[in-house]
Amino acid sequence: DDRTRTPFIAGNWKMHKTIAEAEAFVAGLLPRVADADGVEVSLCVPFTALQAVVDSTRGSRVEVYAQNMHEAPEGAFTGEVSAAMLTELDVHGALLGHSERRQFFGENDRALQQKVPAALAAGLKPMLCVGETEEEREAGDTERKLRHQVQEGLEKVPLERLAEVTIAYEPIWAIGTGRVATPDQAQEAIAFVRALVAGFDKEASEQVRVLYGGSVKADNAAELLALPDVDGALVGGASLDPASFAAIVDAAR
Ligand code: PGA
Repeated sequence: DDRTRTPFIAGNWKMHKTIAEAEAFVAGLLPRVADADGVEVSLCVPFTALQAVVDSTRGSRVEVYAQNMHEAPEGAFTGEVSAAMLTELDVHGALLGHSERRQFFGENDRALQQKVPAALAAGLKPMLCVGETEEEREAGDTERKLRHQVQEGLEKVPLERLAEVTIAYEPIWAIGTGRVATPDQAQEAIAFVRALVAGFDKEASEQVRVLYGGSVKADNAAELLALPDVDGALVGGASLDPASFAAIVDAAR
């Protein structure tokens, strides 16, 4: 097991949890992860609950991420939120390019090429999501898709900041389906993503965390997290309950 990279477990609540529900979750989670030394834990929270989750996790090991961020500093972009609006709340990072944003909201690699460096420049930790559809996998196009998404997403990141980016490999066919990737599929794709980072900078590729996402649960997490190139997990459904999310954090210890 390679422990040169700190294991990272991130929960993605998607469009779940009011402020009251978010605060109840945090109250349940904090005692359960208080001993998880050596694991980085974050929650990707709807905009409306960010302030409450920042306040209720302050001083704990839990960091708070937004689920999206606009690349422009400000402007006529109704419904969008800028990096400065997030850092003002003491938010730590932003999930960028989740497949649901790409699929349902037209987010594309061109925007992501701006978003990743804009987040870093503002002091937010970017988590760039990539992954292939089932059709792309069956057509043998997985590597082509990943190459495109990783190269576009990292293209404008200054090399000296590349190691600060986290990449989440999430095969779209595994998201919310209960069809988790096999260990071989996860390791192969994530090693490929790391090799793509090495194409920019070899040293950074050894430091960048690459997470697996897609139907991660308490009972399959340990096997995935033991894979040599898998540095953590991005967890959707199983992050909505404090006990099941804490069990996944435990599996990373
Ligand atoms: P899931 O979602 O764990 O519910 O499959 C993962 C994600 O979309 O980040």
